[in-house]
Amino acid sequence: MPERFLNYIGGEWTAPSTNDYFENRNPADREDVIGRFPRSGAADVERAVQSARRGFAAWSRTPAPLRGQVLQRVGELLVQKKEEIARAMTREMGKVLPETRGDVQEGIDTAFYAATEGRRLFGRVVPSELRSKWAMSFRRPIGVAGLITPFNFPLAIPTWKTFPALLCGNAVILKPAEDVPHTVHLLVEVLLEAGLPPEVIQLVHGQGSILGRALVEHPDVPVISFTGSTETGSIIGATCGRMHKRLSLEMGGKNAMIVLDDADLDLALDGVLWGAFGTTGQRCTATSRLIVQEKVHDRFLRMVCDRAATLRLGPGLDPTTEVGPLIHAAARDKVAEYVGIAKGEGASVAIGGAVPSDPRLAHGWFYQPTVFAGVTPGMRVEQEEIFGPALSVIRVKDLDEAIRVNNGVPYGLSSALYTRDVNAAFRAMTDLDNGITYVNAPTIGAEAHLPFGGVKQTGNGHREGGWEVYDFYSETKVVYVDYSGTLQRAQIDTYDK
Ligand code: ADP
Repeated sequence: MPERFLNYIGGEWTAPSTNDYFENRNPADREDVIGRFPRSGAADVERAVQSARRGFAAWSRTPAPLRGQVLQRVGELLVQKKEEIARAMTREMGKVLPETRGDVQEGIDTAFYAATEGRRLFGRVVPSELRSKWAMSFRRPIGVAGLITPFNFPLAIPTWKTFPALLCGNAVILKPAEDVPHTVHLLVEVLLEAGLPPEVIQLVHGQGSILGRALVEHPDVPVISFTGSTETGSIIGATCGRMHKRLSLEMGGKNAMIVLDDADLDLALDGVLWGAFGTTGQRCTATSRLIVQEKVHDRFLRMVCDRAATLRLGPGLDPTTEVGPLIHAAARDKVAEYVGIAKGEGASVAIGGAVPSDPRLAHGWFYQPTVFAGVTPGMRVEQEEIFGPALSVIRVKDLDEAIRVNNGVPYGLSSALYTRDVNAAFRAMTDLDNGITYVNAPTIGAEAHLPFGGVKQTGNGHREGGWEVYDFYSETKVVYVDYSGTLQRAQIDTYDK
């Protein structure tokens, strides 16, 4: 019988009110059951909210430097447990071990960054327009934060949300994706071992449409942060708009790498393989479009296909594996469906386009790295997020056209430009309509101390990471102290005295 895992609510590991559990299986080998996890109900969310409110009452009054010390210990424990967590993550999510180690490292970086913010968390003191008066602002915790996370970065994304939320003095309810409950279970164990007071964190497992929804609709959860699909983000956005909640949305991408005629093609080749097929293409920053200037188009396409065809598929725990499986059957079916769509629209499948026939891979959700050639702007494979190992190659005349194609999609997360021309690089940095642009590096590789997020339908203007996320998780309060002993009227007495 596989191990049974529990929710963490009210300061203890606890069974779901439904007494119902679901199986979590290894996407590289569906015979491998990792454990059974709660399929919780709305009653569990209710208990979690009540507990988090109690946790908030005490935690919000704990000095920020002491909150930071807890996160310092969290970072140290993650360093100790990096390998153990990375292995567990590869088993339940599928990506290769070097990538899951990187995922844990991102959590470590986020923890140490958050720890130092405990001694900063700046407000501002500015001159008042009136004499004998001080004007300043400081940060207050908000309340209970409901954090809803996706499957592709099972540890990093929960830490991006949880650590700054906690550092700012909020209590947290975590609702991880159904596909990766084990990694978040391990994270909550680390938080508790580091000394986080029990009711400050709650973990509820289960379906997004029930639990996630209950969390978003709960009147005592004023802050929601969500990473996932644009469809779900739109539903959550509508609810939060109606209920006037603070909401951070991080959603889809259709990221492009532009390769100009003068680019170092070997460098660009390494970049595009990593950008397109790393994490089996299941990154919101994945390179899913390759925009190539006409003189080097045919040659570069050949280089990409030759190398992509040799990428070794397999379980992520095997050190020779370069590309792991997709997360589940539906994700793989979606890639296969887009192969049909691409052909129907007149693009060609240059390589891949099928489930691998190797019997060694028969128990997992593997799909061949796929390259679509002859893609033109407006085709569905050029516009829609596939979230799998599929790359659409588009030929352009010059940088102007490349920028137009890059910007001609509904999303705006990441972009990349390969060139040796400094003027072209600066033009692109200015005009590419994305939250992040890489020059001579692929579309993936964000660092924890810089803001992460996109424009257009990728997000709603907030950022994760960096300083910006601390604005999201705190309320700014302004204080004026008038020590003149008289009534001074702002704007009115300012210039007339
Ligand atoms: P993906 O397609 O990447 O799985 P989803 O948007 O479906 O993205 O899921 C991301 C997260 O949102 C998961 O934790 C999921 O359980 C949750 N979720 C799904 N539907 C809803 C919903 N209606 N309300 C709140 N959360 C949801």
